Amino acid sequence: MGTDADRVADAARRVVDEHDPKTVPIPEFLGACFDAGLSWVHFPEGFGGLGLSRGLQAVADRILQGAGGPVPLGLNPMGYGMAAPTVREHAQTDEVRHRLLRPLATTEEIWCQLFSEPGAGSDLAGLATSAVLDGDTWVVNGQKVWTSLAHRAKWGLLLARTDPDVPKHKGLTYFVIDMHADGVQTRPLRQLTGHAEFNEVYMTDARIPDAYRLGAVGDGWRVAMTTLMNERSALGGSGSRRGAGTVSDAVALWASRPDLHTPVLRDRLTRLWLRAEAQRLTSERSRASATVGGPGPEGSVGKLVGAELNQHIYEFCMDLLGPEGILYGSYGMQDTSSNGDAQDWRGPIQQRFLRSRANTIEGGTSEVMRNILAERVLGLPGDLRADAGMPWKEVPRG
Ligand SMILES: Cc1cc2nc3c(=O)[nH]c(=O)nc-3n(C[C@H](O)[C@H](O)[C@H](O)COP(=O)(O)OP(=O)(O)OC[C@H]3O[C@@H](n4cnc5c(N)ncnc54)[C@H](O)[C@@H]3O)c2cc1C
Repeated sequence: MGTDADRVADAARRVVDEHDPKTVPIPEFLGACFDAGLSWVHFPEGFGGLGLSRGLQAVADRILQGAGGPVPLGLNPMGYGMAAPTVREHAQTDEVRHRLLRPLATTEEIWCQLFSEPGAGSDLAGLATSAVLDGDTWVVNGQKVWTSLAHRAKWGLLLARTDPDVPKHKGLTYFVIDMHADGVQTRPLRQLTGHAEFNEVYMTDARIPDAYRLGAVGDGWRVAMTTLMNERSALGGSGSRRGAGTVSDAVALWASRPDLHTPVLRDRLTRLWLRAEAQRLTSERSRASATVGGPGPEGSVGKLVGAELNQHIYEFCMDLLGPEGILYGSYGMQDTSSNGDAQDWRGPIQQRFLRSRANTIEGGTSEVMRNILAERVLGLPGDLRADAGMPWKEVPRG
């Protein structure tokens, strides 16, 4: 009898043999991966997994992507990285899991994350969007902001306030909202790169069936932690191959421009490469140790280090290019709000440099990551919290 790793490898080879990723459409290939239990090998059978250790995902991915298959996280980032683990763990019924997971995996249904609001980003638990139960549907009113991919999404992960009379963390409930429902309006926001990758979303008497609530009423904060821990570990994870990931951009640029080499820049590139490798090995180690359960606060370490490293890598690229670095061409003015393909996010090096400025903000700022690290990993005294224990509706707001 073979090992679990053999079982995963056999299943992956079968998928590749029967659905050549170089010739079949992406949804067909990813659908075959889902049916074979290779989307998330640690999920239960029938839900895109095989009920095995999460560490074995790398065995499947090496074969699937080695044969030319796509990196699904790049095609449906909020779906694969955050929605899938949250739906799996907190959906009320298997019927809802079945309805949502397969189209997520095939990327036929894109997902977005409706957490941040104009008055609640780092202080997410202070959010004001309300959900009120009316029969067996919830009526939602409020505004979200910075919602990446909302313009392409079929579903949104929504955190809303269902009880304003209790302290802020206790009055939240978590839902899945249909982004095409009446009362949901998405407006693009243009960012520094010239792209409109994220949006404002207005919800006016939008309705959500109670069956699409994830977790118990009032338990939204705990459910949101599943999403955020998975987001941080997805953002913090680097390429699984040595030299892959964003540092490969710097190496490729260096190799293509020998006319710009200096000994000082060579030293900088070497140091960046070593830092990228240290980060890669650290995330490999934390992935290997997290063979059971979900990612913990350690994911914040990878997110913090990866975000700052990305910025240093693209700063290096700009310094290497010198005056050429300020040439941007017409690329930045393309409007991705209509097609907005996730792969379009990666333009020329200048665009990646500008985009990297967001890395220390998105998915929780570096200051917030340091607070989590200090309190939850190192056990240092907590941040000052003036509103602790106060009913949300009594907390002063600007
Ligand atoms: C590219 C991009 C994509 C995004 N996509 C999404 C998305 O899809 N869905 C979504 O819901 N949100 C998304 N966001 C929003 C993101 O999560 C927030 O911007 C982030 O959490 C910070 O919140 P804020 O912008 O309100 O800043 P604020 O919370 O107002 O922070 C302002 C400054 O104060 C600092 N600060 C705040 N509190 C503390 C503290 N306690 N201690 C020390 N310093 C502190 C912060 O670090 C920051 O420097 C995205 C953001 C970006 C940039």
